[in-house]
Amino acid sequence: MAVKSRRDEYFDELEIMQPEARAAYLDKKLAETVAHAYERAPAVKNLLDKAGVAPADIQSVKDLEKLPVTRKTDLLEMQKAGLPFGGVLAARPENVERVFISPGPIYEIQPSSVKWFAKSFWAAGFRKGDVVINTFTYHMSPAGILFHEAIRDCGATVVVAGTGNTDLQVQIMKDLKVTGFVGTPSFLNTVIRRAEEMGLDVKKDLSVNRAWFTGEMLPPSLRKTFEEDYGIDTYQAYAVTEPGGAIAYECRHKSGMHLMDEYVTEIVDPGTGKQLGPGEVGEIVTTQLLNKNWGLIRFGTGDLSSYVTDTCPCGRTAYRITGIVGRAGDAVKVRGMFIVARQAEQAITGFREVAKYQLVVGRRQHRDEMTLKLELKDDSVDKSRLSLDINNKFQDICRIKIDRIEFVAPGSIGEKQQGIKDERKWE
Ligand SMILES: [Zn+2]
Repeated sequence: MAVKSRRDEYFDELEIMQPEARAAYLDKKLAETVAHAYERAPAVKNLLDKAGVAPADIQSVKDLEKLPVTRKTDLLEMQKAGLPFGGVLAARPENVERVFISPGPIYEIQPSSVKWFAKSFWAAGFRKGDVVINTFTYHMSPAGILFHEAIRDCGATVVVAGTGNTDLQVQIMKDLKVTGFVGTPSFLNTVIRRAEEMGLDVKKDLSVNRAWFTGEMLPPSLRKTFEEDYGIDTYQAYAVTEPGGAIAYECRHKSGMHLMDEYVTEIVDPGTGKQLGPGEVGEIVTTQLLNKNWGLIRFGTGDLSSYVTDTCPCGRTAYRITGIVGRAGDAVKVRGMFIVARQAEQAITGFREVAKYQLVVGRRQHRDEMTLKLELKDDSVDKSRLSLDINNKFQDICRIKIDRIEFVAPGSIGEKQQGIKDERKWE
């Protein structure tokens, strides 16, 4: 492989900042953003005043803990009470360039001068000469136009497609020799299936060799199919509309998504808003530093993730989030650790001997206790061996031990009882 120049590898110098430089950069940008918004956005003034915090009290990322998390439902209420933007706008209304609409509806502004997604597309390898089909909608939602601009920022040609019309998408990809796909993993899968039904050999008749996904997580099995069976190199990014844009993106090592320095992204305890450390699962909370005119400080995404701090061979120095493991409402906290329903399920139902399960969280002598009730498909299995294996697997995935595993008679666990049951009482 030819040695690539630094410019070819990285989008900008921020990506390779050293940790102290990054911390200083983020602290400075954050303090500026908060001070600017406090002066101009009534909602931000209200937020700080209510919390008894002066703008000058926010000098670092750690200081953000002094402020509450604002969630989508809060933003919706704020906007309903004060249309159109709920006091979040930190600019004169006549200077708003464009408005996007998220479900709710929630109204957001995003200026075109900002490169919202370019870095993520660059890391995915899009360059001049690529012909990229953008299958995200251009209708109301910011997705279509923002990804369109990002493809252009990398120098590639955009095929303006939008959603749906699968047959036509296949034909366009063939006729225009499209090399890149931008959309959801499930839509690429649909397009490939349809192309095959239409009698095409995807590898021979189409030229797609690269795909960029967001909006849904890419299951490892589907990634393997795209990459190994169809020769399509896949990349994913984590994006949230309300604070505006991409927050994290994969590099070619694809082991987590690098956090963007255009946002302050915290992983917090959804109950207390306190920042969590590496490896701890919590809610992704983000404050964007790109567009000073949008005063949304500490936006709670409701998505659960954790981050890792180890160095990535790609040379980018930003921490990485390790994918979305669930939604804040789907998690229970046991002995200080969040257990996400989906992760628990993954750990337990990975054993084919298990027919049904229920994970009961109780409390004894002021200590949380977990009891796993299992119905087996075949009662003759080695139960102590299975208990040990399940507990090891559970600990690997959820980072906490189950206290007791009980085997119950078939039919004991009703269809709706499967999952996590929190029986703790706090009186
Ligand atoms: Zn990397």
